Amino acid sequence: MEKKALDEYMEALWYLAEENNLSLERLQDLVDVTFNDDIIRQLTEQQLIQLHGDKIELTPQGRDQAKQIVRCHRLAERLLADVLGMQLKEMEQGACEFEHILAAEIVDSICTLLGHPSECPHGLKIPEGKCCRQARETVTSAIVPLSRVPVGERVKVCYINTKSNSRIHKLCHFGIMPGSYIKVHQKSPSFVLQHENTQIALEQDITNEIFVFYPEEKKEVGLPLRRHWRFRRRGY
Ligand SMILES: [Zn+2]
Ligand SMILES: [Zn+2]
Ligand SMILES: [Zn+2]
Repeated sequence: MEKKALDEYMEALWYLAEENNLSLERLQDLVDVTFNDDIIRQLTEQQLIQLHGDKIELTPQGRDQAKQIVRCHRLAERLLADVLGMQLKEMEQGACEFEHILAAEIVDSICTLLGHPSECPHGLKIPEGKCCRQARETVTSAIVPLSRVPVGERVKVCYINTKSNSRIHKLCHFGIMPGSYIKVHQKSPSFVLQHENTQIALEQDITNEIFVFYPEEKKEVGLPLRRHWRFRRRGY
């Protein structure tokens, strides 16, 4: 049996797992005319699935494999949509071809290139890869609240996480926004930072809401940062 056919089944099984409905009947619906008992038998033999009557169970190995196929498919869709500007209806065939060709290392490179997207253009979750977890760890350790930056250090604003509109307006008014360079001038008795030629006194609370990073580390942090370059508000 062609590997591609088995992959298509594994992909379909992942969709069913997502809708919490792993049954032979649903699988038959989904793959329709291509349904083939022989493939089910092979998947069982390869210990990718186990059958319990009409219920199908993905083995841990089967889950990993299905997850990788779906990850590949959805990243390929992102690539086609974001980089090649393809429309949703044009891309279905393309994405399904890609997933059988791409090697795992290339998948992670594409994921990194695209900034580790969390959803495909249809809004479905892209299963995480090793690259996504690594990127998140690097980014979170490199980004700190302004309150933790020592006096004299020059840092770059990454994002501002506040639910207060007036604070955002105040910061914007002083030109402090994602991408701005700021320097901590003093921390007590009050927190004063320097932005360009202006010194600005900040309430202590705000300094916990401005997240910054050291610009020297920018290279190491790489692409994923782009996704944080916006105001974030809590509670949304
Ligand atoms: Zn596919
Ligand atoms: Zn999709
Ligand atoms: Zn990734």
